[in-house]
Amino acid sequence: MTGIDVSKVATGIDNVKEQNCPLCNINKNILCHGDSFYVMSPKGSLASGHCFIVPHFHLDCYGRLQDSFVDELLETKIRLRNILAKEYHTDKIIIFEHGHIGNAQKPTEYCKHAHLHFVPIEFNGDFVVFIEKNLKIKPIEFSSFRHFKSYVKSENMNEEYLYIDDGGSISAFFLTSIQLPRHYFRYCYLKLGNKSLEHADWMKHPNWGTVEDTVKKLVDKF
Ligand SMILES: [Zn+2]
Ligand SMILES: [Zn+2]
Repeated sequence: MTGIDVSKVATGIDNVKEQNCPLCNINKNILCHGDSFYVMSPKGSLASGHCFIVPHFHLDCYGRLQDSFVDELLETKIRLRNILAKEYHTDKIIIFEHGHIGNAQKPTEYCKHAHLHFVPIEFNGDFVVFIEKNLKIKPIEFSSFRHFKSYVKSENMNEEYLYIDDGGSISAFFLTSIQLPRHYFRYCYLKLGNKSLEHADWMKHPNWGTVEDTVKKLVDKF
């Protein structure tokens, strides 16, 4: 990945874009383009450094990513994590996905297209422990992203899930019996960080200043 190259697009059988999907068609606040994925600073950023890894092609969740794309995703993940750690002087970077969410709820601007959230964290707090208590369901632990993906495949999972990688361990909550409140990851982040819950709704609080800050800081770092 070298800088911004908007001419690069994914190839292969998953190279399908949906006309009305914003993440299939986005062209601003992009930090870098790889062959199959791009990194962007999203509308409603929770903090400077909040980024998404997004497939160029339309895919509903990373649990259903085709095997041939996994290497590139994992390379992008490591690269982004290292850049954030260096630029934000922290090892605490939460990596999060709310998979399939858009299937069950009213489709929103981002939720129908897979995107992995990365947020540098400046407070203490364990997201997995918090969610376990808050939703009253047990997480499943995974040794790697591939392990998680093979579990989703073998169980033929169609339900929503929350995927959390805190750098030390990977956990997922499968939401068989509950419907997740909207903006749930944002809620957890704000709650754990003792911040105002007012910012949970990213559509009401696009935080463009923070987005700009992230772009300025990271755009030439890839
Ligand atoms: Zn899409
Ligand atoms: Zn999201």
